[in-house]
Amino acid sequence: MAYASLDDLLAEGVRGRRILVRSDLNVPLEGDVPWLRVTDDGRVRASLPVLRKLSEAGAAVIVMAHLGRPKGAPEEKYSLKPAVDTLRDLADFPVSLAHDTVGDGARAAAAALTDGEVLVLENVRFDPRETSKDDDERGALARELADLVGPDGAYVDDAFGAVPRRHASVYDIAALLPSYQGDLVEAELVVLEKLTRDPQRPFVVVLGGSKVSDKLAVIENLIGTADRILVGGGMVFTFLAAQGHRVGASLLEEDQVETVRGYLERGSRDGTRFVLPTDIVVAEKFSADAASSVIAADAMETGAHGARGIGLDIGPATGADFAANIAEARTVFWNGPMGVFEFEAFAGGTRAVAQALVDAQADGALTVVGGGDSAAAVRGLGFPDDRFGHISTGGGASLEYLEGKELPGLTALARDEQ
Ligand code: ADP
Ligand code: MG
Repeated sequence: MAYASLDDLLAEGVRGRRILVRSDLNVPLEGDVPWLRVTDDGRVRASLPVLRKLSEAGAAVIVMAHLGRPKGAPEEKYSLKPAVDTLRDLADFPVSLAHDTVGDGARAAAAALTDGEVLVLENVRFDPRETSKDDDERGALARELADLVGPDGAYVDDAFGAVPRRHASVYDIAALLPSYQGDLVEAELVVLEKLTRDPQRPFVVVLGGSKVSDKLAVIENLIGTADRILVGGGMVFTFLAAQGHRVGASLLEEDQVETVRGYLERGSRDGTRFVLPTDIVVAEKFSADAASSVIAADAMETGAHGARGIGLDIGPATGADFAANIAEARTVFWNGPMGVFEFEAFAGGTRAVAQALVDAQADGALTVVGGGDSAAAVRGLGFPDDRFGHISTGGGASLEYLEGKELPGLTALARDEQ
């Protein structure tokens, strides 16, 4: 698919025009109304460059964004105010927040907006039409949003995390205005295309996280493409069960055991080797200070904690084995922590894999981290972003891309050019 880029729009000229931008300002917050605080400003920082480029080029910029999952009505705890305060602190251009999304407040503020200014509309999910299943309802909201920028307006999608959604501010809006891909979306796609189209080999995929059922589609799509799939995290116990091992009280999705057994068979047929742990850190309970021991992956119930033991991390031998596999790779994609990294005692496997990616990147491999918790884990463990080839801002969007799913936000952008 071909997309018009932000640079194409800038080349056309934006001075004196109103430009609608979909940004990702969905930041994590802590505290209570009215003392909410942004705990990770990564997405605000990532949104700055496109807004700055447009502002500097003389556009009047109107930003659409969502925060959390409000139920189609205004709710103070989902206000974009904390995110916009952060944006204002970081920006070297004027930033304001409208009182509503497409109501009187937004219309008056949009009408008064002058060149170089940025106006953020209140949480677009405060309007129930944003996420409606009804095409006409979403279309009506998109029309009201498009009216804010008038006849020579344009739309820029800079919210990669939202491209899987068939929402008014992501999908329907692109049918009403000339549409362009923002730099963030473009950067994500460049990397994801490298993974899917002729990746440099060996192509090693590391999968973890909590539930295998969340990741079935991506595993399915990677069999035959990836050379090796290293499995850790909570999902690994369904794999171990599929090999006939008992896993104590670890996270196990009984109803997926057969499916996973099928994957293991298909993998050996189609040239994708699944690499499973040889040792597991088994704890007596799910808590930060639980007593734990390292136990062979095929003997989890015979260790100190018996059938009550819970596997909370891959063991050190597995960490070293995964690192050795990653060291041989030319392309690495990693999604899902190797253990319950939120507890320091069970962060060892995740740290070992993160370090292996950093080393592989330094050796010239392409390393990509996708997934919200995976990105948070890498940062939380103190690895700087620039030691990886790419850390996706998109949460689940990169996985959905690798699943080979249609992403409505991208289809909509390409529509202009077809
Ligand atoms: P991502 O958001 O990167 O796609 P997931 O949401 O799939 O990742 O999984 C992240 C969660 O998986 C983390 O909160 C982590 O604690 C949990 N997890 C990892 N290993 C285990 C395990 N052995 N048992 C239970 N939960 C686990
Ligand atoms: Mg997650």
